[in-house]
Amino acid sequence: TTTHQIVIIGGGAAGISVAASLLKRQRSLDIAIVEPSEVHSYQPGWTMVGGGVFSPESTRRPMASVMPRDVSWYRTSASRVEPQHRQVTLGDGRVLGWRRLIVAPGLDLDWDAIEGLSGTLGCNGVTSNYRYDLAPYTWSLVQSLKKGTALFSQPPMPIKCAGAPQKAMYLSCHYWQRQGRLGDIDVHFCNAGDKLFGVQDYVPALERYVERYGIHTQFQNRLVAVDGPSRTAQFAVAGDDGEHMVERRFDMLHTVPPQKAPRFIAESGLGNDGGWLDLDSETLQHRHYPAIFGLGDASGTPNAKTAAAVRKQAPVVAENLLATFSGDPLPAAYLGYGSCPLTVERGRIVLAEFGYGGELQPTFPKWINDGTKPTRLAWWLKAGQLPWIYWQLSLKGHEWLARPERRDTTPTSLGADKA
Ligand code: FAD
Repeated sequence: TTTHQIVIIGGGAAGISVAASLLKRQRSLDIAIVEPSEVHSYQPGWTMVGGGVFSPESTRRPMASVMPRDVSWYRTSASRVEPQHRQVTLGDGRVLGWRRLIVAPGLDLDWDAIEGLSGTLGCNGVTSNYRYDLAPYTWSLVQSLKKGTALFSQPPMPIKCAGAPQKAMYLSCHYWQRQGRLGDIDVHFCNAGDKLFGVQDYVPALERYVERYGIHTQFQNRLVAVDGPSRTAQFAVAGDDGEHMVERRFDMLHTVPPQKAPRFIAESGLGNDGGWLDLDSETLQHRHYPAIFGLGDASGTPNAKTAAAVRKQAPVVAENLLATFSGDPLPAAYLGYGSCPLTVERGRIVLAEFGYGGELQPTFPKWINDGTKPTRLAWWLKAGQLPWIYWQLSLKGHEWLARPERRDTTPTSLGADKA
């Protein structure tokens, strides 16, 4: 068994950012990253690919190019953690030992939870911006649709980037409007939830776009089955008297799959009731195993699952984890920041930024950018600046606007445990 000072499960937004943050603080750390994928994706760019703004290629790079130079990369997945023995078993059977573990495997997209969907994705007008290879198909469907019915579905929460299902819809509607076709296209937003967006402050701006584009909103409508060849979708509709099924015909269907925590988290005893990583929401330390930290989409903390959240979480995990080596109290606090740039039209964005409990946490003062209104500045940020900030700052441990809050210090339960 090889033992590393720190093992990180996952080399996505969270895994790479936290490794870079740690190395920025202490160059000599012995860090291993377990990550099976040969490519690293900037998923927030996929909404823009589906809207014809970004090229697909601009959203991904070789994993090797984002791996910090001094980490050991295990090109396989983690299949089980044994917290008591401080070990992780890899997909290829190897076992790694660790002194500290960071769990950051993202979440699993459950395409098979919707009957018939997997087999028809990418044809028969069925698409999703939640897959790299399908986002370009969204844009080609949008361009070719001249009339008919377009459905946009949203599964039950939690999902990553909760605004993404409607972002795809607004960008599509804006294109059809500019082409003079919107009057011939019947657009429905079929949402398993009961509101447009979880934080009420942003809802009025979104409602104005729903009205402007003539979108029919169907709440408590959960997509359960798709028949591609006959272009029909089945929805379970919740009402006062239980659920009933409704069938809808479509010419285009943009779907978002239900999402769940990777299974190994619960199987390793690291999950909460929902199977998500059971972390302290402020310190991001595991509630039962103080040598384990976590961040990103796999976390059970009640923040918006976004790359923007990861940008703030990475330095918190880095500082707090290092403090456990010296037995110091955990110094850094994460206040639940997450951000969802809602692309309401090509050229304007409602920049939702909020923390735990829906508390607004805007980066800019209102006179520069009012997040509750559509602004050109926010579009400029999303289309021009955020990808660069992601690749050049976040993934390299430069903590742009991400300096952690200080917390009231309490002793860690690990005690002194020098690395
Ligand atoms: P990921 O980046 O998904 O990375 C997880 C990594 O772990 C992957 O590389 C995977 O291969 C690896 N992995 C999985 N299982 C294992 C295992 N068992 N062992 C080892 N490795 C494993 N965020 C925003 O901030 N703004 C946006 O506008 C935005 N829009 C989005 C639009 C779309 C369409 C999508 C899909 C996402 C969007 N997001 C947005 C969300 C953002 O991409 C995620 O929140 C972010 O990528 C989370 O980082 P992560 O590292 O937790 O997960």
